[in-house]
Amino acid sequence: MKKILSYKQRPQITSSYDAIVIGSGIGGMSLAACLSKAGKRVLVLERHYTPGGFTHVFKRKHYEWDVGVHYVGDVHREGKLLNRMFHYITDGRLEWAEMGEVYDRMVFGEEVYDFVKGREAFAEQMKSYFPEEAHAIDAYMQAIYQVQRATKPYFLEKAMSPGLGWVMSPLLRNKMMKYAARTTLSVLQELGCSPRLIAVLTGQFGDYGLPPGQSSFAMHAMLAKHYMNGGAYPVGGSSSIFDSILPSIQQAGGQVYTRAEVSQILIEKGRAVGVRMQDGQEIYAPKIISNAGAFNTYLNLLPEACKQKLNVDQHLTSYEPSASHACLYIGCRQPASALQLPKANYWVYPDNYDHDLNVARYLQKPEGELPLAYISFPSAKDPDWENRYPNTSTIQVITLAPYHWFAPWEHQKWKKRGSEYEALKEGLSEKMLQILFRLHPNLNGHIDYHELSSPLSTRHFSNYPQGEIYGVSHTPQRFKNRFLRVKTPIPNLYLTGQDVVTAGIGGALFGGMLTASTLLKKNMLKVVYES
Ligand SMILES: Cc1cc2nc3c(=O)[nH]c(=O)nc-3n(C[C@H](O)[C@H](O)[C@H](O)COP(=O)(O)OP(=O)(O)OC[C@H]3O[C@@H](n4cnc5c(N)ncnc54)[C@H](O)[C@@H]3O)c2cc1C
Repeated sequence: MKKILSYKQRPQITSSYDAIVIGSGIGGMSLAACLSKAGKRVLVLERHYTPGGFTHVFKRKHYEWDVGVHYVGDVHREGKLLNRMFHYITDGRLEWAEMGEVYDRMVFGEEVYDFVKGREAFAEQMKSYFPEEAHAIDAYMQAIYQVQRATKPYFLEKAMSPGLGWVMSPLLRNKMMKYAARTTLSVLQELGCSPRLIAVLTGQFGDYGLPPGQSSFAMHAMLAKHYMNGGAYPVGGSSSIFDSILPSIQQAGGQVYTRAEVSQILIEKGRAVGVRMQDGQEIYAPKIISNAGAFNTYLNLLPEACKQKLNVDQHLTSYEPSASHACLYIGCRQPASALQLPKANYWVYPDNYDHDLNVARYLQKPEGELPLAYISFPSAKDPDWENRYPNTSTIQVITLAPYHWFAPWEHQKWKKRGSEYEALKEGLSEKMLQILFRLHPNLNGHIDYHELSSPLSTRHFSNYPQGEIYGVSHTPQRFKNRFLRVKTPIPNLYLTGQDVVTAGIGGALFGGMLTASTLLKKNMLKVVYES
């Protein structure tokens, strides 16, 4: 099979493709695979030198780390929608390794709460920690599954034309909006959960980036349900996601180019007709699909006149960028088994059980306690790691890091941002290491390499303007608005990926499927089930 090509080496691309996809994230790749399997020739243009969007990996010394995939739910469950979707776009080339009974472990001071897989088992486990709140836990579980049942019609509306969607809106959106329009905190309080229980149940809030007082309950519920039957990790690391989809595109004559930055979407007579590359080359195709995120697409890739005509600024005012993060990438010169690294992720919190307060305090007083530290042990999750990187292991520690702390260096080059920037990073790294050593004292002295990414890294490599992790923030307002949908107001221009559905590998992949459904005029979920 052909390898992917760098645009810089092969800039003369003819305009003979059926569709151009801007960005090679899981949203863009899954869409491109669906179109390819329907016989279309698709050109995927990726600005980074490594393809895959947040599924890409990077290497240093003897190590490799994923950047945006630590665990995915439901992919390991034969016959489930996400499992089938991956099977469809990869022709079964991708394998997943399950993480085991405990997928997340919440740590509040000295107290530990395990998230165990299985609906019943999860509820029972929570009741064992909070026996006096059994009713609230049952009500919570019911609410999660009610949201789950409302998601498909809600997102289906996004694949329709705005006019038809508007007519169908009460039927398709109202059930979801009952929960989506409210914050997680208000729903959980109404269900009778105590502040402690709320803090534990929302212990995965880093997976969507907003504490309970700010997040939409629909996002919380979808995420909680997504992992309710455990988590899995791609065998061979997260780059195997891209590698396993690529042949589906190439088999139909399509191609992915890296270092291929699109600078503008070409509009003629009000319709999208192609793209202009950063070097000025213009490539034309009947359909243009952006996987580059809503803010990039509408604010940076459309010609000024078009933006003004569509009143884009006005439409986007009620959407906010999601949180940004810092990640400490750690390498150790011993295998995960020798260091007793678990497959489960740790979520480490201050012991006051108040995520909203902790986040607010941290934003005001960065020198205080971290409001959360998420710790993932990727090499322990990947059964293939030892074959590729023998006698080593990797760890990632993530925390929130607001973009404005790093903004003063946004115009300086990567690795050349000076000592003040390095000192800011060092301070954060030190705090993260202390948390890690508190949980795993045996790691002290075994760390061979560490490097911290900042929101500027996310901006530099993934092109999110504020270094945001999850595209558009998952507030109630995001779910109320109808502007972000598959069809843009410009004929032949479409959106895909996490800003169409939700953040997460599953959400962005579902976004790809929705966009494919619109373009191919077929219900791709049905196609996937029947394949
Ligand atoms: C730190 C972190 C941890 C995460 N952990 C998990 C997890 O454990 N499980 C999970 O399910 N999800 C996780 N996620 C979320 C998940 O990775 C994302 O929601 C998902 O991958 C987004 O996919 P996408 O296709 O929408 O966009 P992306 O993956 O962001 O892809 C967009 C692509 O467009 C390219 N692009 C942008 N502008 C241009 C341009 N002008 N020209 C050409 N190309 C362009 C970008 O370079 C990028 O490659 C995590 C994310 C982060 C950041």
